[in-house]
Amino acid sequence: MTERLKIAVVKMTGCAGCQMEFLRLEEEMPFVLEIVDIRYFVMAKRENLEGPYDLTFVEGSVSTPRELEELKELRSRSKTLVAFGDCACHGCVPSILNWMPPDVAANMVYPNFEAIHSKKESYRKICPLDEFVTVDIYQRGCPPHKNTILEVLRSATLGIAPFLRRHPVCVECKLRENVCILTFEKRPCMGPVTAAGCGAICPTVNRECEGCYGPMSDANAQSLAQKFSEIGLPKDHVTRKFRKYAGITSAFAKEADNR
Ligand code: SF4
Ligand code: SF4
Ligand code: SF4
Repeated sequence: MTERLKIAVVKMTGCAGCQMEFLRLEEEMPFVLEIVDIRYFVMAKRENLEGPYDLTFVEGSVSTPRELEELKELRSRSKTLVAFGDCACHGCVPSILNWMPPDVAANMVYPNFEAIHSKKESYRKICPLDEFVTVDIYQRGCPPHKNTILEVLRSATLGIAPFLRRHPVCVECKLRENVCILTFEKRPCMGPVTAAGCGAICPTVNRECEGCYGPMSDANAQSLAQKFSEIGLPKDHVTRKFRKYAGITSAFAKEADNR
């Protein structure tokens, strides 16, 4: 039997939803454990081992000096580093902070923010991992669908690049034979500019895609923003659509900025 890949699953600034998705591989876990040795995964196991690792999944964006230090250390101990989820790839929901004063955002959530230690050490800007280190694999999604986690694990075992889609959600939506809610109901769906991988979950249950996989390859954000305006979406709502998950990417920055 070939040696199993040594993997780590690590959390930065995020909600832990990506790690939860990893744990949703319940039925597949016996197969997963045949090909990988989970050395570090604090959410899932009691005994955790320091690297080096073959494959490190890093969930969350970087928002503090402590996280930056940890990330650089992880990079030096990892053969392959995976930006695990939209926070790690594009900043995701935490990056909304980049457009408002930290105290305003904090007071929306915490009545007494003084008790939150991270306030003192927080960076003003929330950044994806590749702002600081080289990322080998971008695993998009908030959270990434568990099938894409399997794809990354399988391909790493074979020593090949994973097949992670960059065509738009619309392709998956059409394959499911959904009626287009943007064209026929004039509802603001982000599917035309969002990378596929989720199986068009939201439009399939009659909800707009919110763009949680981040930009597809060659996304035409300007055209979709114009379409949103034509169907009557106010300008600040258009801004929020593009800001919510990947506003700091070059593909969405102009539409997310609105200044
Ligand atoms: S990408 Fe989404 S699910 Fe994953 S940590 Fe960030 S907010 Fe949570
Ligand atoms: S409903 Fe959304 S994802 Fe589906 S085809 Fe229309 S725009 Fe694309
Ligand atoms: S349809 Fe859009 S918002 Fe929904 S899971 Fe897929 S990428 Fe995310």
